[in-house]
Amino acid sequence: MSQNLRKEEASRAAFEEAKQVIPGGVNSPVRAFKSVGLTPIYMDRGEGSRVFDIDGNSFMDYVGSWGPLIMGHAHPDVVNALRETAVKGTSFGAPTLLETDMAKLVCQRVPSIEVVRMVNSGTEATMSAIRLARGYTGRSKIIKFEGSYHGHADSLLIKAGSGIATLGLPDSPGVPEAVASNTIAVPYNDLESIQLAFERFGEEIAAIIVEPVAGNMGVVPPHEGFLEGLRKVTSDYGSLLIFDEVMTGFRVDLHCAQGRYGVTPDLTCLGKVIGGGLPVGAYGGRRDIMDQVAPSGPIYQAGTLSGNPLAMAAGYTTLKLLTPEVYAQLEERGAQLEQGFAKNAREFGIPLSINRVGSMVCPFFTDQQVVNFDTAKTSDLDLFRRYFAAMVQEGISVPPSQFEGMFISAAHTAADIDETIEANYRALKSL
Ligand code: PMP
Repeated sequence: MSQNLRKEEASRAAFEEAKQVIPGGVNSPVRAFKSVGLTPIYMDRGEGSRVFDIDGNSFMDYVGSWGPLIMGHAHPDVVNALRETAVKGTSFGAPTLLETDMAKLVCQRVPSIEVVRMVNSGTEATMSAIRLARGYTGRSKIIKFEGSYHGHADSLLIKAGSGIATLGLPDSPGVPEAVASNTIAVPYNDLESIQLAFERFGEEIAAIIVEPVAGNMGVVPPHEGFLEGLRKVTSDYGSLLIFDEVMTGFRVDLHCAQGRYGVTPDLTCLGKVIGGGLPVGAYGGRRDIMDQVAPSGPIYQAGTLSGNPLAMAAGYTTLKLLTPEVYAQLEERGAQLEQGFAKNAREFGIPLSINRVGSMVCPFFTDQQVVNFDTAKTSDLDLFRRYFAAMVQEGISVPPSQFEGMFISAAHTAADIDETIEANYRALKSL
């Protein structure tokens, strides 16, 4: 239901106060709503498919903490697991049984992962996987794709998506030229550019790191044969193929994107869903490669809070809740949302190109098919801004950026999606 004239006094005051002591008022840039020119919404609590802010507004939520909350907010099983774990102590800096349970479950669900190391964020996972690939191959260069985001490690902040794209920032100051020069960025879905890069630098390339479904330039599915092509060229040249499944891992399939598309990487990075809303990342893969990681091998990587009991409890419980039935439901809800949004846009003659993979949905305000960062950037960002503001007024929380996808959770009912489509109709009408 429309809740026009959303109250925002409390959020506004909270943001002013935060700006005094936190850079830009936030602990991660896109939260500041800078590119959409609005006051960020300060959250108070979440329940299932909804979130409630400190001004007393409620929103149907499609941010889902940027991906982790595939079972919805405050799922009772996850909350109980956290309670039971917390009373026994929150961290030991010594191994616990839950870490092995978690590793076993990940290895069982993702056949390419024979050994897995837990870390504390997606950034740590990709940074560590890159170091491992370089150490294992004895090579320095890596290939990434324009508009992909793999966290904020120096070597990966080149032509990056997500917040960098949202804020229209060039490559970040503070990344030394010597580091940047070892990263080659090529367009997504473009095997020809990959071939050229390998012909020129093949013997120096340690790895390709790729989001098997791009999710940080908006959502962009891989073309048929693209992931297979990456697999072949890396094998031919003795480079490693790293799937950054921080976003897609257990989001698009019970066996991750690699299960959905049937392509086997050497290393996989995970995060988001496997933490069930707590800070977690992981990297894993072939045993002979992972055996190079300390203490079994010489490549160093460590963490005071890695494998943290609370994070393991939330993540393990979440993974156990994920069944084929859950993914079938997510697929259905995704299709329902996609069709509803497309119909609304057609009715108002608004150019909208919707990309969707399962529960990752991205409406681009363009008439072009979005296949890479360049086509994503043909979107009308001013129209997006007005759409976002209208959706907020309608009580729908979508990502505050054209270059981020919506996440549907298992808590979203068919009625929730209908309500969202109706709100979207009114929002588009108001444009
Ligand atoms: N890789 C991908 C594909 C991501 O989407 C993200 C975060 N959005 C990261 C890495 C970085 O993860 P984190 O924010 O947990 O460091």
